[in-house]
Amino acid sequence: MSLTEAQPGYEGLADRLHAVQSGIADACRAAGRDASETTLIVVTKFHPASLVSALADLGVRDIGENRHQEAQAKAAELSGLDLNWHYIGQLQTKKARQAAQYASAIHSIDRARLVDALASADRTVDAFLQINLTDDPGRGGAAPSEIESLTEQMLGTPTLRLRGVMAVAPLEEAAASAFERLAGYSDRVRALAPEATAISAGMTHDYAEAIAAGATHLRIGSAITGNRPDAR
Ligand SMILES: *Cc1c(COP(=O)(O)O)cnc(C)c1O
Repeated sequence: MSLTEAQPGYEGLADRLHAVQSGIADACRAAGRDASETTLIVVTKFHPASLVSALADLGVRDIGENRHQEAQAKAAELSGLDLNWHYIGQLQTKKARQAAQYASAIHSIDRARLVDALASADRTVDAFLQINLTDDPGRGGAAPSEIESLTEQMLGTPTLRLRGVMAVAPLEEAAASAFERLAGYSDRVRALAPEATAISAGMTHDYAEAIAAGATHLRIGSAITGNRPDAR
């Protein structure tokens, strides 16, 4: 089978990928931004490695996963492909060093103990400070009051290359206003870390709003992969 042919079972994948890519281009144009400022991370959680491989055949290089064991297994199975694995889910402190072995970027750094654990990683990873845009401490992400202390701590950790901030829009608020707040948090991080210009935000239903608010790393799953198989 030629690499350019759709793999069996993944008909429609190329069309959905291209539709999202043109949606990103449109949103960038509307925001007066260049699409080359954005990185599309295709989120493949719950989908098999074969789907990731089909995406790689279509030119995708950045893959997002939110569960450590699943991500670790897929990264091992597909180690022959030139992929950047982005870890975007809640990360247990005791799994942090392992995640740093396969992930080139960790988007979900949200507490001092996790930064401490990553300090002993075997290699340097791109790091995003995840900020909670809700008042519910049960959601992932650091409270806004912790931004400065965590930024300083991450800057002082040689295994972390601080890239910027990350957030998930709340369910109970319009994405545009939540992402405006995130842009303000990004300014606070950049006041201490001028290089940390990245903003990881935007999913299937809100990536246009995220782009309007300055997002650089879009984490898009179901619009490209189709519906996720049931959570196991
Ligand atoms: C699942 C997930 C996404 C992608 O969600 P879709 O709505 O399928 O695009 C993005 N970010 C995080 C943190 C996720 O867990």
